[in-house]
Amino acid sequence: MANNQTNFDKPLKGILKLKYKIKVKTGLHIGGSKESIEIGGIDNIVIKTPIYKYEINNEEKEARNVPYIPGSSLKGKLRALLEWVEKPSGENMPIAIAKSGEPCDCGGCRVCKLFGAHKAKNPKQPIRLRIDDFYPTPETIQLWEDVLEGVYTELKSENTINRIKGTASNPRHTERVIPDSEFEGTITIRIFEDDSFEDTIGVLKSGLEMLEDDYLGGSGSRGYGRVKFENIETIWKPVENYQSEEINSEEEIKTIVFG
Ligand SMILES: [Zn+2]
Repeated sequence: MANNQTNFDKPLKGILKLKYKIKVKTGLHIGGSKESIEIGGIDNIVIKTPIYKYEINNEEKEARNVPYIPGSSLKGKLRALLEWVEKPSGENMPIAIAKSGEPCDCGGCRVCKLFGAHKAKNPKQPIRLRIDDFYPTPETIQLWEDVLEGVYTELKSENTINRIKGTASNPRHTERVIPDSEFEGTITIRIFEDDSFEDTIGVLKSGLEMLEDDYLGGSGSRGYGRVKFENIETIWKPVENYQSEEINSEEEIKTIVFG
């Protein structure tokens, strides 16, 4: 599992591009900054891209203020979850405990191999993982246009119940992406000579599984952010010819990429 070797001398074998669909099961809130968009009365707005171009029925369309899932949010969440189970090289405790909650900087464990060593003071590995931003599918934008009337989110108001009077106070308005929305994006892994399936795809897959059991974005303890991942396309581009090759099963990944 963990290995201490410096890995900059290993040649790149190719690039594996995994296209995923994220299905939103419960209201999703990934926070945006208040300064960028001024909306009165909303305490917590979701992150949006100002203009998004997409195609539906061979027609070019453009939507404004479209919610998306930043790759950095996904990557950060996956890493944080994996650090509860993966161990720094040479240690016996999970990273979260061994490093007192700081991201791993050992440079040799499976998390550092995939995500890079924290602060990269002394990197022993090239970073393998890249997660792009995930954007709504054209069908999802249509859904939002059909049910949400001009905006692409819903506003959820939440109250704090006064324990003595039993009355609601301090209503907060939180913006959310509605359930049944779907986002698509690509996760790219650079595969080097001697990399194994387990240390790359295996780690990514267990991170995605943990995320499905946890939540994405804010207010997870209140039921927000349940999501499901579906691998919809896998492309392998070996460095020797850089021709895209479609891969149709996990078995094929094992034989074609790591065989
Ligand atoms: Zn590490």
